[in-house]
Amino acid sequence: MKKKLIAGNWKMNGGVAANAALLEQLSAGMPANPCWVAVCAPAVYLQQVATITHGGAIAVGAQDVSAHDAGAYTGEMSAGMLRDLGIRYAIVGHSERRQYHGETDAVVALKAQKALSCGVTPIVCVGETLEEREAGKTEEVVKRQLAAVIHTNGHCISEIVVAYEPVWAIGTGKTATPEQAQEVHAVLRAQLAAATPHADRVHILYGGSMNAANAQQLLGQKDIDGGLVGGASLKAADFLTIIAAASAA
Ligand code: PEP
Repeated sequence: MKKKLIAGNWKMNGGVAANAALLEQLSAGMPANPCWVAVCAPAVYLQQVATITHGGAIAVGAQDVSAHDAGAYTGEMSAGMLRDLGIRYAIVGHSERRQYHGETDAVVALKAQKALSCGVTPIVCVGETLEEREAGKTEEVVKRQLAAVIHTNGHCISEIVVAYEPVWAIGTGKTATPEQAQEVHAVLRAQLAAATPHADRVHILYGGSMNAANAQQLLGQKDIDGGLVGGASLKAADFLTIIAAASAA
């Protein structure tokens, strides 16, 4: 069985002193044989976090990446720039970016492609809103979102990480039950399997109010290969409990 991956999404939180303190606590509390661990920091702190974590068990991720290579795109950050700093992951298509920045499936697919072309692993987020779930459209929505990425990235698709993040569970304290999450993960795995013989290699993470209390149960599901953790990744003790659960699973 492959090692699980726990990625923290700090969102727009942190500061120079707070980041250093959090990373020190995480390094000190890391289990002997940890799962894969990453923290996705705000762009402005990537270099700081990369410097502190260099050579250790914590990889660094960005929270977004540009769909362009270079040029007149004020405020954007290219995949090449991430590679330059040794950044391992980039979240793409987080629901907050889809919602507040109008990112379409096509843009998300292009961002994933740019990341892959520079050796940065995209963590591709998919997930339905509450309205879509209640309308029975969960499967249709997540399959449409992932299909765009599969279509654009072809045979490289086994190199991505997928994060199933039901929008109604993000930052709300409402978690999908392990069974609800597993059901969608199985759908995503089957969709990947139709596109690549290496679908089993792909980490499919669950995200949406994963915390110290519910991580073990979620991570015990067959197709849940880890977690994308928002709020709980900002508290060292909670994040370490999740990491411990994933390392033992
Ligand atoms: C996220 O932002 O990716 C997330 C899962 O947030 P939270 O854990 O706070 O719901």
